[in-house]
Amino acid sequence: MTTIEANLQTVHQRIDHACKLAGRDVTQVTLLAVSKTFGPESVWAAVSAGQRVFGENYVQEAVEKILALRELAPDAALSWHCIGPLQSNKTRLVAEHFDWVQSVDRLKIAQRLSEQRPESLGPLQVCLQVNVDGGANKSGVAPAELPALAAAVAQLPRLRLRGLMCIPEPAEGLPAQRVAFDRARDLYDALNRSGLAVDTLSMGMSDDLDAAIASGSTLVRVGRAIFGSRPPAPS
Ligand SMILES: *Cc1c(COP(=O)(O)O)cnc(C)c1O
Repeated sequence: MTTIEANLQTVHQRIDHACKLAGRDVTQVTLLAVSKTFGPESVWAAVSAGQRVFGENYVQEAVEKILALRELAPDAALSWHCIGPLQSNKTRLVAEHFDWVQSVDRLKIAQRLSEQRPESLGPLQVCLQVNVDGGANKSGVAPAELPALAAAVAQLPRLRLRGLMCIPEPAEGLPAQRVAFDRARDLYDALNRSGLAVDTLSMGMSDDLDAAIASGSTLVRVGRAIFGSRPPAPS
């Protein structure tokens, strides 16, 4: 068994356990493997172990990997999520190569993605990134501005609004971790009550996925616990 395969098993066990504690069905939580900074061979090892859903932060690096995996695993139906901060000059590559974008926090970016999504592909699946704890250096729409942004994005023809993504400040211990996750859950429930019918609440990473699942996460984004520690991010 490869290390990546063993790590995936361990993460699935954590997800199972967290779902049991929360009285949730394990099929309600998707595991997104965050492969940023790791090469195509690492992604391929995860694919061989059954993983199909991947997250990437750096668009150029991701596109190379997406194309490489199409060669390495042509029959695997992989799903690629863009989870990194988005600049206007990168939206076309994202619209052309990804299945999902979780980091939309401005209408202008959403409009460009919709305009640039090729007709030959289905709608781009979108989560809005929300800044749940007001972290200073953080991307994400402010909670007060979320309803208006969500309503506008839901109107764009080539996008499908699926839900919310958040990256709270790290906190120690499950109760402290749950504070921000519960806030995201409230915002998500409010979107559903407003009639937008969203189904994806993307929260939880290697260090806090258990708390996120307790708070209702439907998608956890896990990097280090699957692929090991990363080199520092490119600047
Ligand atoms: C890197 C990253 C992750 C994965 O974090 P780990 O701590 O490695 O699990 C999840 N979400 C986002 C947005 C990231 O940038």
